[in-house]
Parts: sequence; structure tokens; C-alpha cells
Amino acid sequence: MDIKVGIPRGLLYYYYFPLWNKFFETLGAEVVVSQPTNKKIIENGVKNTVDEACLPVKVYHGHVIDLKDRVDFLFVPKLMSVYKNEYICPKFCGLPEMISSSVKDLPPLIDTTINFRKSRKNLFKAVYEIGSPITKNVSEIEKAYEDGLKHYHEYRALMKQGVLPIDMTKEYHQKRKIITVNQQKVVLLGHPYNLYDPHLSMNIIAKLREKDVMVITPEMMDTSLINQYANQMDKKMFWSFGRKIIGTAFYAMEEPTVSGMIYLSSFGCGLDSVIADIAERRVRRSSRKPFTVLTLDEHTGEAGIDTRIEAFVDMIQWREKNENNFSSHG
Ligand code: SF4
Repeated sequence: MDIKVGIPRGLLYYYYFPLWNKFFETLGAEVVVSQPTNKKIIENGVKNTVDEACLPVKVYHGHVIDLKDRVDFLFVPKLMSVYKNEYICPKFCGLPEMISSSVKDLPPLIDTTINFRKSRKNLFKAVYEIGSPITKNVSEIEKAYEDGLKHYHEYRALMKQGVLPIDMTKEYHQKRKIITVNQQKVVLLGHPYNLYDPHLSMNIIAKLREKDVMVITPEMMDTSLINQYANQMDKKMFWSFGRKIIGTAFYAMEEPTVSGMIYLSSFGCGLDSVIADIAERRVRRSSRKPFTVLTLDEHTGEAGIDTRIEAFVDMIQWREKNENNFSSHG
């Protein structure tokens, strides 16, 4: 019988799932993913996580609980750094330990440390460690990683064309047409797990599209363009997702076809509060574009978010129609 590897549908699932799904499948394992985020997953996550944790980490715990009795291994890597001289949020570094101490009766974790801050020299060592519960065959693991990487690059290329995780169904080609005929552009900023988890984000992408707004996210941007804009900061932003968000915000500020920006942030996220503050100050100082922050926590009501989205879209549509020299903040 195939070994079952569980991948929780949370945090960087929305970024790296195609890579690890293909990797484990090529090695002959069965990949089991937790259900899409729902009320029960959030409740279980909140109940089993320390109060100080941010909502995405709590939700991740809920996904672990959803999976733990159905799999032989749980893939919960200890992500520290994926780019040279940059870091991922410190919450990711302690994730396996946090899960082990908060959730009872877990299957063994595949909790390999991924730290490329200094170099990628140890990349294969980490990949081998991840694959070794399934096989010890080095060339099989190498081949599985190559296949996984190919899938990951295809997925990222689709995102750059505007095909976002919510579109990645069999009919995504049809949905792409819907995206390309939209007119007004709004840049949606935030960490990928806030933007692309439909339940956590309260379907913000679909809601904006329904209002004929084209949504642009950091994952749709070219890396070189992001870096070019992020480099306008006096100091280097050493959080990888922070760099992407800031680069996208600065681009949006200058790009004439973008009508406004929405930052989707998590309550209790130190990084979001710093990044949103930097972006908002710069936008207020140098541009007239509307910028709004929507903060999510487990108590956020959908009706309130809907009202804010509606008001935001009404405002950018009104401005588009009526004037060009009106302060967006006055
Ligand atoms: S970046 Fe913020 S939301 Fe993401 S895991 Fe860290 S604290 Fe949580």
C-alpha cells in the first residue's frame, strides 16, 4: 500500500504545493491534502494554538488536525530562508515544534529545515531528507525533485499570467478570458495564504472580479520588476514576502493603469503591520491613489468586509468617471 503523506492546506501551501505534490507522487507516495479551510478547521486551529499566534498559523493547526489521522507522515517543513540574505517570518521556523507541542497523537513529521540564507549548497541534502521516508534511492529523489520543480515553474508561470490558485481548476482557461476583459485594476497586497485561501480572504478576489475589477497580486509580477521597485527603499527589506509586497505596492503607486490598492493583513502579524505601514505612508506621500487595509481575524464578519470592498470599488469607479484632480484622502 502507498505511503500517505499529508500536506496541510495552509501557509505556503499556496506557493509550493505543486512542487511537493509532484515530488511525493513521483516517489510513489499518495499525497493527501486537508479540506479547504472551513469553520470547523478554523475553530480547531484557534482552540489548539497559543492566543498570540496569528490567524494563518492558527488555521494551519486546524489543517494539521484535519489530516493527522489519515496519513502516515505529515509534511511540515521548518522554513527559515528561501533566498540568499533573506528570511521567512520567524513563525515558520518554529512551526514543527509549535505543532508537536499543541496537537496530540500526530503521525511522524517530515520537518526538514530549509535554510538558504547563506547559499543553496545544502539544497539536495534537504531534498534527500524530505524524500527519505519514502525511499532511500538518491537518483529517484533527484528525479522527483526535478519533476516537482518543473511543475512549480509551470504553476508560477500561470500565476504571472493572472491564473490564480482559485482559477486552477479544469476550466481555468475559460476563467482567464473573464480576467482579461476586465477594466479597472486593483492591486491586492498581502501574504499568499491570506490572498488565496478563499475562506480566509472571504473570497475577495472573486468579489472584486464580479465587480469588473482586474485583480493584480504580487505573484503576478515579474521578479525583476518587484526587485527594481523594492530597491527604492533606503534599507533592504530582508523578509522575502515583505520585499515582494513592497515592490508591488511601489509599482502600483507609479503605474497609471492601477486605480488603487487593498492590503489584506492578519491581526497579530508584526510583519504585516510594518509592511502595510511603509507602503501606506509612501502611497499617501507620493500618490493620490486609494489605499486601504483590511485586517482579518477569526472574528471578522464577512458583511463588514463586503461593505468595505463595495465602498472601495464605488470610490475608484466614481473617480474614474468624474474627475482627475480630487484628493483621494480628503
Ligand atoms: S508573516 Fe504574519 S501572518 Fe504570516 S506567519 Fe508570520 S506572523 Fe503569521
